[in-house]
Amino acid sequence: MTELTYTAPKPKVIPGATGDWEIVIGMEVHAQVKSEAKLFSGASTKFGAEPNSNVSLVDAAMPGMLPVINEYCVEQAVRTGLGLKAEINLYSRFDRKNYFYPDLPQGYQISQLYHPIVGEGEVLVDMEPGVARRVRIERIHLEQDAGKSVHDMDPTMSFVDLNRTGVALMEIVSRPDIRGPEEAAEYVRKLRQILRYLGTCDGNMQEGSMRADVNVSVCRPGDYERYQESQDFSHLGTRCEIKNMNSMRFIQAAIEYEARRQIAILEDGGSIDQETRLYDAAKNETRSMRSKEEAHDYRYFPDPDLLPLEIDQAWVDEIGAGLPELPDEKRARFVLDFGMTEYDASVLTAEVASADFFEKVAAGRDGKMAANWVINELFGRLNKEDIALSDSPVSAEQLGGIIDLIGQKVISGKIAKDLFEIVWTEGGDPAKIVEERGMKQVTDTGAIEAAVDEIIAGNPAQVEKAKGNPKLAGWFVGQVMKATGGKANPQAVQDIVRSKLGLE
Ligand code: ADP
Ligand code: MG
Repeated sequence: MTELTYTAPKPKVIPGATGDWEIVIGMEVHAQVKSEAKLFSGASTKFGAEPNSNVSLVDAAMPGMLPVINEYCVEQAVRTGLGLKAEINLYSRFDRKNYFYPDLPQGYQISQLYHPIVGEGEVLVDMEPGVARRVRIERIHLEQDAGKSVHDMDPTMSFVDLNRTGVALMEIVSRPDIRGPEEAAEYVRKLRQILRYLGTCDGNMQEGSMRADVNVSVCRPGDYERYQESQDFSHLGTRCEIKNMNSMRFIQAAIEYEARRQIAILEDGGSIDQETRLYDAAKNETRSMRSKEEAHDYRYFPDPDLLPLEIDQAWVDEIGAGLPELPDEKRARFVLDFGMTEYDASVLTAEVASADFFEKVAAGRDGKMAANWVINELFGRLNKEDIALSDSPVSAEQLGGIIDLIGQKVISGKIAKDLFEIVWTEGGDPAKIVEERGMKQVTDTGAIEAAVDEIIAGNPAQVEKAKGNPKLAGWFVGQVMKATGGKANPQAVQDIVRSKLGLE
């Protein structure tokens, strides 16, 4: 397979009163591990269950309860690391991150600060065909999620739901390699796509399966290149961290706001305080939550209840051998194998299900034509009517059947659209429908000639005009197509009209 070559997109530049500014972004994405059970207990992770029904004694932190690591969650983290072309650490370890909060009954979160399970990797963020940003992944560590405090159900009381407590999260930390709001959203989209391909996170942002902490700073042109060369952070501006974002649109809006807020302060001669901020979508602004000075002292130490996590290279290799084809590779293969554009390939490979659907339609058929029908006719229609591909009224077999009929010249492209409409609303076998409803294309030249003769005889004035202006032949073709109910082979009509009008 040939490698696709990429150039890096330009960073977003914001002009200020004192000169240009650039944005620098690093993200910490919390992705919920797709697993039936929690990280250290057998309790269910099912979303939407009755409050406090998915809580084991371990999750509730009853005295004397001991955590037991869920091997499947470890496997999912390794799979994710391999999918992000990252280094897998055969030795990792769990630490306690101590803090008090009502939805954290243990009084600490089990996480991996010093020895994460996954080291350096990368995500290619596609901005447009042939243009991608390589965003370095610094690390991925496994940790527990906390529960949920509910403050808006009662005027005087707060409630706590521990269903989420102890659910396995992967914290995926990027280097500050993202250079604009659109790129940040695209990074999350790409990461989500890869995780969904791998089956390690369902990527459902509404349900909170993926949340991002977004670190934003601004610098002058040239500073980022100096940082890249030296990896010395002092070339970059002071960052603020916007917590818990779960929508691509809000991520972009928050970065846009935050960068302008920082620029205004700097241009006024002020300096940026490193702090944690919250995005208020209703007001479209970020607000300070806590400053670095009041930052928690988490008193990290190795969790004495858990042994270091040691895994075998052989197991890692086995997981690696089972990895599916990932989005970048699938897209490149579609471009090469089916001769489609990068754009079409990225539409078709957005989800594994859509790529699989397309491949079924394309098998043994013209790839470009299959891509065109899947994207423009089927996906276009599904989108318009807000129907999921899994509920598509037209199956891959049926769509393939329609394409076969066009390829065999049994029907014209135009009739094929009518046929698609029938299959969409009524279902059925396309070939049978064409047979039963007399939709076959007329290729019998005798019948077409008769239709052409009739039109010519009935329109002597048009015939005169066409002799001086060959472009008018199209009008005759149109009339014949109309007279034959669109079933005449357009190429045959064209040829016969031209020869009868003496335009050859
Ligand atoms: P901490 O441990 O305090 O959270 P990290 O070094 O782990 O700090 O960085 C957290 C995130 O902040 C990472 O995603 C990193 O890429 C990002 N980051 C670090 N410095 C900057 C900066 N100057 N501008 C933007 N993002 C940054
Ligand atoms: Mg951090």
